[in-house]
Amino acid sequence: MITTDVDIAVKALIADEIIAIPTETVYGLAGNAFSETALKKIFELKKRPFYNPLIVHIKSAAYLTEVACDIPEIALKLAKKFWPGPLTLLLKKRSIIPDLVTAGKETVAVRMPDHSLTLTLLEHLDFPLAAPSANPFGSISPTTAEHVANYFKNTLDVILDGGNCEKGLESTIIGFEENKPILFRLGAISMEDIENEIGKVSIKNEGTE
Ligand code: AMP
Ligand code: MG
Repeated sequence: MITTDVDIAVKALIADEIIAIPTETVYGLAGNAFSETALKKIFELKKRPFYNPLIVHIKSAAYLTEVACDIPEIALKLAKKFWPGPLTLLLKKRSIIPDLVTAGKETVAVRMPDHSLTLTLLEHLDFPLAAPSANPFGSISPTTAEHVANYFKNTLDVILDGGNCEKGLESTIIGFEENKPILFRLGAISMEDIENEIGKVSIKNEGTE
């Protein structure tokens, strides 16, 4: 069902179901980031290969320390400036994050989305949400609830309707090596805006998709 009722979304997520959520970038296929059962369902639904890690969506910058550790000062500076917003940070993961989320990597991708309905939803949960874009692997990322329904109407029980995604573009991904920032994926936040905040950012050579 397509709904704006956060309580329905909360119940489904607590039961380890996967739901679609709106963000300012694109719609996501969300599940409990701490639950292997939920995570497996995400990969299955999306036909996403297990080697492709997921982004963890959190309710506040303060929550960052629940999922990541050894956080560089410049990462905190970026979070303070751009969150909530389309900036994903790659940080050393805490052990509470299952390997399924990170595809076995030591780093976890984290961001605080800028969408009021999804932030309200996160406030009602005692876990963060792992969420890739709500499209089958290889298809275009959806920016409306109807667009999600076209892809998943037979398999998703709950699509949380937050209207049109404001940006319609994926998040920019920044990682760190020895506390130096590295661009992994260019998205809705420009290099210029990031470099204005923290100075020169180098570019990762290998692809991240
Ligand atoms: P999507 O959720 O479809 O926007 O894809 C998430 C993107 O984040 C993919 O390109 C992943 O490869 C990337 N990603 C997530 N976690 C990591 C990580 N630990 N290291 C590098 N890239 C990551
Ligand atoms: Mg995607």
